[in-house]
Amino acid sequence: MLGPCSLCSAECCRNHYISVTVFDVLRISEKTKKKPEEFVILYPLRLINFDNDTVLEFHDNGFPEEHILCLKSHPCIFLEGKKCRIHEFAPSVCRTYPEKTDGKFNLELCPFPSAFLFRVLGTNMPSNYKKELRRYKTIVKEWNKKKGKKRDCIDFLISRARDPIA
Ligand code: SF4
Ligand code: SF4
Repeated sequence: MLGPCSLCSAECCRNHYISVTVFDVLRISEKTKKKPEEFVILYPLRLINFDNDTVLEFHDNGFPEEHILCLKSHPCIFLEGKKCRIHEFAPSVCRTYPEKTDGKFNLELCPFPSAFLFRVLGTNMPSNYKKELRRYKTIVKEWNKKKGKKRDCIDFLISRARDPIA
């Protein structure tokens, strides 16, 4: 379908760290039948400028090391040419980009005509994105209290996301 991104070479998919919530990971895993470790990675925070409430801490070396849950990026593992291979169930951050959850736009990478169209037309932020993000932040907080090790983190996030009363 034609839209603002038709005028671009998927610059955001090539150049950003694609930060996700554990709910995105579960959806993608279910639809693609891939295990999370095949497409997600924990990137060190020093590489990324991001929302503090989604920062995961590990205590492998006795002091906190900070990471962010992301798709394997640069380019995104799901990018094929200019196309997203998981378009129908892409992470909420992708479906919302370049709009941020606070309603502001990050148009740095968008070519001029696309940026203009986004300003005029807006984006299609998934209706459950803010709710999932809030819940993910609660799970992140819970993990950080545990002072756990990196190898246990993704399993913990997934088990909490699958727990309906978490
Ligand atoms: S999941 Fe799709 S839309 Fe999101 S960064 Fe990857 S290729 Fe781009
Ligand atoms: S959001 Fe902007 S940078 Fe990303 S593909 Fe669309 S036009 Fe390009």
